[in-house]
Parts: sequence; C-alpha cells; structure tokens
Amino acid sequence: MTSYHVAVDSTDSATLGMCTTYLGAVLLERLSELPLELSSPPELVRLNPNVPWKTRGNGAFCLRYEGEKDLLDEILFIAENVIWNLSVFEDPQTNPGLVILEGEVPISFREIYHRALHEILYLDAVKEVGDYAGALMKGWKNERGLIGALSAVGADLAEHTYEAILYRPAAVKDRMRQVDAGTLREASKRYPSTFFNIDPEGNPVCIPHSPCPVILGIRGVDPSDTLEASRMVKAEGIERWVLWKTNQHTDAHIELVRGLSSLRPFSSISAEVSVSSPSAYIEGGHLFFDVSDPEGNTATCAAYEPTKGFRKSLSQLVQGDRLRVWGSIRSEDVPLPTINLEKVDVLELAVIGVPVNPRCPECGGPTESMGRGQGLRCKKCGFRGAGLEPVEKIMEREVRTGLIEPPSDAWRHLFRPSCLPTSKERGYGGPWWGTGAP
Ligand SMILES: [Zn+2]
Repeated sequence: MTSYHVAVDSTDSATLGMCTTYLGAVLLERLSELPLELSSPPELVRLNPNVPWKTRGNGAFCLRYEGEKDLLDEILFIAENVIWNLSVFEDPQTNPGLVILEGEVPISFREIYHRALHEILYLDAVKEVGDYAGALMKGWKNERGLIGALSAVGADLAEHTYEAILYRPAAVKDRMRQVDAGTLREASKRYPSTFFNIDPEGNPVCIPHSPCPVILGIRGVDPSDTLEASRMVKAEGIERWVLWKTNQHTDAHIELVRGLSSLRPFSSISAEVSVSSPSAYIEGGHLFFDVSDPEGNTATCAAYEPTKGFRKSLSQLVQGDRLRVWGSIRSEDVPLPTINLEKVDVLELAVIGVPVNPRCPECGGPTESMGRGQGLRCKKCGFRGAGLEPVEKIMEREVRTGLIEPPSDAWRHLFRPSCLPTSKERGYGGPWWGTGAP
C-alpha cells in the first residue's frame, strides 16, 4: 500500500468559464476506477488572493488516496486526459499544472504552501522542490499552474471550512442557473452552521453568474450540515457534486506582523496601529486614512467602494484611535504602502474633548460668545458672567470598540468572518462526492 496526492491548478478562465474544482469533480469519478480509496476529503485550496495573474479565485485542488503501488502511470494518464479535455487553453491566464506525489508529503511542500499564501513564488524554485521530492510534474503553456498544484499538495488544512458545490455539465454556458431561492433560504435557516448562502435581505449570494459549471456552493463549518443543506436546495441540471474541505474563510492568507516597517507587496497582514490622519473619501467613493505603529512607521489604509457600510463605520475613526487591521498590501508604486482593508477591530477609542458653551448659571439657558475675548452671554436672560468660559466636553463617538466587517458580498474566499466558530470535525466520514444530485 502507498499514498498518492494528485493536485491541479490554473485550468479555468474568468471570462470563458470552467472551474478547476469541476475538473476535480470529474477526476474524482475517473480515479475511482483505480484500486484507490480517498484517504481524506477532497481539498479545495485557495492561495494568495493578491497574485496579479490568478485565473479566478486562485484556487487549486488536491485529492489524496491510499491504494496499490505502481499506479503512478495510470493516475497520470487519467489526470492528463481530464486536463486536456476540460482546461480553457485559449485563455492566456490559464496555464495548467498537475503534480502527483507518491508517499508522505515532505516539509518542503508545506513551506511552499505557506509561502504561496503570502508571497509571489518563482516557478523554478517550486519545480526544484518537486524534483527533489521525486514528484511527477506536468505543466502546460507557461506552466505557472505547477506553483498552485504543488502548494495544494503541501496544504495544511488544520483550520478549515467546507463547501458543497453542485455542478452542471461543462458544456452548459448559461449565465443563469435554475435554483429555487426559497429552498436555499430554508436550507440556510435549517442549517445555521452554513454561511454565505444568502444576504440579510434573503437574496442568494452563493450562485455564480459566470459561464462556469458551478451551479452553487454551500459553505459551512460542519461537513454533514453543509452537505445536507446542499441536498435541500432545488436546482435544475445537477450533473455531479463534491463536498470540499477547504481553507476558505480561515484567514490563512494573513500574516501577523509587529509593525508596519516590513510590508511586502502582494502579502496580507494583520497589525496593531493607531489612526494618524483624518479619513477622506476620494473620487469613486473609496475611503483612505493613514495609520502608524509605535515605532513611527506609517501606511495608508483603504476601504473601497464595494465595501459600502464598512467605509461609513471607518469614516468615523479619528486620530489616536487604536486598531487591529487586516488587509492586503497593494503594489509598491505608491508613496506609502497601502493596506487594502478586509476588517478592522477597534481596540480603543481616542478621548476627544470639544469646547462647549456652558448653560447660564442664573436661568439654565444656552449661552453664546459675545465675540473674540469678550466672554459669554446668556441667550435667554442676557446674563453676562465674567468667569463664564467654554468647558471641555468629551465628544460622543458614533463608532464603538469591536470588529467592523464589510458586508458578505465584499468577502474574499479566505476572509474569516467573526461569526464563524473555530473548525471542529464532528466525525463525518463521507460520502464526499457523487454523480447526479446529492
Ligand atoms: Zn440666563
């Protein structure tokens, strides 16, 4: 007996359809013809969301099996065949990669996975790691998909969620899906451990509008709830399904950093900072403000228009407010490193005194200034007090301490919403995939 890890990346196209996970669903069926058993749930692995040349969501998959020895050639033959048949080779961004590893996953693969979440990796360095471990690597076109595929083999999903994805045949390219939204709302209500299915108004958010084979995906923290919820949804033309274990919504892309001195472009960080400038909206409705760390390093924080109410809450922050910010670093060709905010925890609000005219000591009426250096006068009874001076009042803040998060339609795949409990397996043993409806 031996183990096999089969991973694929970069087969889909943002504009022309396909989805690498659909290819995984087909491969699950084809590989079931071999004397192999899945040794863990199929894994959907999201990598650095800031990679400029990602196809769609920068997602790869890895299938892990146990079975007879000497099946490498057969696995390779089947996987190549599926990639040939389904990849969108005509899209310049689509550069498929296939990695098959027999045996234990080496530490070097785990390192590549972690680096692939935070950095831009070079193909040659990744291929070297694969060669050294004796992995079978097959790349197409510029072969960049090998980076994601090898990273997916190295993925460590200690922290994870699940996504049950229902697929239609690859030939179907309609942007519309026939899904009964009522059953989706019922499923969300019945299985509260699922999330990201509908928005607060009850509109579906888990149904894509692209020409890809995904009909919908139900995300959740409990595998059997997630699958059961997907079974409740009435949808037309389901060809197959997969219950993926995934690093989605785990903040796997975030690196905790101590200060702002070492922000690398294309990485995602979390840091404690203080607001150091008033916030300002720029054209297009994007909100910007500056922050600094205790060493005096500074950065600009940005909340873009699609995050809607998130910006409004952030616009009430003032200089001196202490925050923990989560976000991705944009490219370096701007004066200050810019943190594209994903969420903010308001740790401590600055205390701001504003001068306020006191009430009249005689009648309790409002007072007003008589002019520069002239003191105050009661508007009601005309009382003029020599000692009457504006008093400092602590400004009432509209913003409160605690997390500020964007609405769900602005979440990215790896974004961890605070409503999510930490992931715990609940003894679910499968099934993980099938043909027809679940
Ligand atoms: Zn008065």
